[in-house]
Amino acid sequence: MSSKKAIIIGAGIGGMATAIRLKLLGYHVQVFEKNDYPGGKLSHFEFNGFRFDAGPSLFTSPHLIDELFALANEPIGEYLTYEKIALACNYFYDDGVCIKAYTNKDAFAAELKQKTNEPSQNIHRYLFDAKDAYNHIAIIFLQHSLHAIQTLFKAPIFKAIGKLKLAYLFKSLNDYNKAAFTSPKLVQLFNRFATYNGSNPYKAPAMLSLIAHLEHNEGAYYPKGGMISITNALYNLALKIGVQFSFGKSVQKIQTKSNSVTGIMVDQKNYDAAIVVSNMDVYFTYKNLLNDASKAAKVKKQERSSSAFIFYWGMNKTFPSLDLHNIFFSADYKAEFDAIFNTGLPFDDPTVYINITNKLEPGKHAPIGKENWFVMINVPANNGQDWTILEQFYRKAIIKKLNKIMGENIEPYMEVAEVLTPVSIESKTASYMGSLYGTSSNSNMAAFMRHPNDSKTTSGLYFVGGSVHPGGGIPLCLSSANIVANLIKEKYHEKE
Ligand SMILES: Cc1cc2nc3c(=O)[nH]c(=O)nc-3n(C[C@H](O)[C@H](O)[C@H](O)COP(=O)(O)OP(=O)(O)OC[C@H]3O[C@@H](n4cnc5c(N)ncnc54)[C@H](O)[C@@H]3O)c2cc1C
Repeated sequence: MSSKKAIIIGAGIGGMATAIRLKLLGYHVQVFEKNDYPGGKLSHFEFNGFRFDAGPSLFTSPHLIDELFALANEPIGEYLTYEKIALACNYFYDDGVCIKAYTNKDAFAAELKQKTNEPSQNIHRYLFDAKDAYNHIAIIFLQHSLHAIQTLFKAPIFKAIGKLKLAYLFKSLNDYNKAAFTSPKLVQLFNRFATYNGSNPYKAPAMLSLIAHLEHNEGAYYPKGGMISITNALYNLALKIGVQFSFGKSVQKIQTKSNSVTGIMVDQKNYDAAIVVSNMDVYFTYKNLLNDASKAAKVKKQERSSSAFIFYWGMNKTFPSLDLHNIFFSADYKAEFDAIFNTGLPFDDPTVYINITNKLEPGKHAPIGKENWFVMINVPANNGQDWTILEQFYRKAIIKKLNKIMGENIEPYMEVAEVLTPVSIESKTASYMGSLYGTSSNSNMAAFMRHPNDSKTTSGLYFVGGSVHPGGGIPLCLSSANIVANLIKEKYHEKE
């Protein structure tokens, strides 16, 4: 066991998971967070009797949370309860068709057969392939540093190579889905999984088809109390095992000497540490905390993932046709992604996602007879657009779309309204350009281009969270914490 000190910059999900893992390795761990609350993007707020999760709404791979509690030997049930949901999502199409994506594969295949005439074996084959690829290939990305030579010897690389279809790397997700399904509605449905890491299905490699495995083979889950319960659970676990948190503390500098970290500076005061883990966006870490313009420029070269525009609407009515997760698809998905990643122009028929946690806990997140709508569209990362003008544009486009498909005017039912723009995402969590998932996966080499979890030039410096390997989203951020802890264990502990 080590009595060395480790400092974590940022109490995002990746930062807190790393803090827990390092504390359990025997470090004295202190987390410095610029906000006065933990969770980063995974936070929430209350407004006139309505509660809204601010960012993530889909919970998959809960075993990654269970694992942290098991490691700490703490009963998870006292911190977090969650349930598998039967309906992953309602998909509404422009022509009025609604597909219910059940998490039970047979029920899902039967629904697709009935609504789109898609042969059931196509669904089963697709999900089987996604599972196979996930279990043999993705696991290498998720559990190892791709940039460490040992990975080549430790990971089951040869088995993975055997499972690697050329199509995964050299076909786009859209082309792969077109070959897998006869119905364009299914192609669109499975193309959507590229947005789970902020990418463009018309460019991103078919490897992203394995994302469907998480929701449709492993299942989608709902944490009681909403997504904020995940943040609260990790925060309380970290406190229980003795991690220290300092809120309202924006780290100004990472201190180094002779190619090793020595600590950080906050409020002009130095704090020593042998290990520093940055959960801050890696671009801002280099630019602002390390004053390393050349490394920052290298990170900047990679394309950002998409961002989001979110309307939080408290509705004074309930809508029986909606569930926890609802998607209203654009009639022209290709044009929507062209607008997000190529032209950057506002798009007037966006795909609209509505999340309503009150559906699963009526009366808990909105007053009785009312609903808390989290309404999100994908938009380009912030490039200086006038988001005040765009807010009016998007609001109008969303209402027009929902009114048409739902067959009623929803506007009069809005009791309260708030927005989150790419600029506020950037300022709240210091995410470069407000991108949700760091860099995009719009090329077949993107997975290998993500910044590694350790510094190759500064000993003791590590990186965790959505802007580095293996990528954004709660499961991947939790995986990055595991990789960081393993790198530290291998470097400092294996000889102990
Ligand atoms: C609108 C939205 C919807 C999303 N939907 C989903 C979803 O449904 N499912 C899913 O899995 N993922 C989703 N994501 C992505 C997911 O939220 C993120 O990938 C994940 O939460 C990022 O965690 P992180 O560890 O990278 O830290 P972040 O959440 O980015 O937090 C970083 C922390 O570092 C702090 N910090 C930054 N600079 C400093 C400094 N100098 N000093 C001290 N502290 C600092 C910040 O204040 C912040 O608290 C969504 C994200 C958003 C914004």
